Amino acid sequence: MPLQIVHHPDYDAGFAVNHRFPMSKYPLLMEALSARGLAGPEALSMPRPAPASWLKLAHAASYVDQVLACEVPEKIEREIGFPVGPRVSLRAQLATGGTVLAARLALLNGIACNTAGGSHHARRAQGAGFCTFNDVAVASLVLLAEAAARNILIVDLDVHQGDGTADILGDERRVFTFSMHGDRNYPARKIASDLDVALPDGTGDAAYLERLGGILPELTARAPWDIVFYNAGVDVHAHDRLGRLSLSNEGLRARDDMVIRHFRALRIPVCGVIGGGYSTDVAALAARHAILFEVASGFA
Ligand SMILES: [Zn+2]
Repeated sequence: MPLQIVHHPDYDAGFAVNHRFPMSKYPLLMEALSARGLAGPEALSMPRPAPASWLKLAHAASYVDQVLACEVPEKIEREIGFPVGPRVSLRAQLATGGTVLAARLALLNGIACNTAGGSHHARRAQGAGFCTFNDVAVASLVLLAEAAARNILIVDLDVHQGDGTADILGDERRVFTFSMHGDRNYPARKIASDLDVALPDGTGDAAYLERLGGILPELTARAPWDIVFYNAGVDVHAHDRLGRLSLSNEGLRARDDMVIRHFRALRIPVCGVIGGGYSTDVAALAARHAILFEVASGFA
């Protein structure tokens, strides 16, 4: 069975090419996956929009209603970084539905990935930092509510700290949140995860991988995990516009391999989401995101 990949064409909300958020990376990632032979019909599933009842497990009901009605107050839209019109609203619902679907496919098949997701700055009360809904938090709470999982681990390796996920799941003892990120990156005011590791600027491949390799066994020992959500943000890359950790493509590949190999060796299902990545060279950026899928396909 090929790696199960969840994708929807409307993950791309069609922003202008010069927008600070590189929206065109979604179609370009699919092109990259097709070129690598990973996007055949037997590999792809299409999500439905997440219903309000799922979204309200993680977010304030009033905020969910605002997003669904495209009536988000301007002040919150400024914190998110773009206006929430019909396409952005649909995109947020689809990306969240996509992570829930990928999680279900991971539980069935051992591993699955969403070609979006990792919107970890969205807090309970509202979105922020290019994140409208927190897909991983929603998916975690859906799985718990349906008793599809009892213990959930979130491994967030996006270069930015997972403040929104920590905010939503701080009181949820069945979910453990781990974030390893650049100390000097957004958000300025971090919300403590269950475990945070803040790295200095310019950390580089060797030091990064050594640190991560030391932590994974610690995480495993904490509980019998039913599923791991892996945020494989590529903004740790040296050429990322927002990152400061100086990883290479080889470093990214070694990181993804280390995480997935670790949990799959223990037969723990892994649900991958792409997380952040910011570059004006969107083709190069899409190729960086494709690394997660290349590595994951070796474990499918
Ligand atoms: Zn990020």
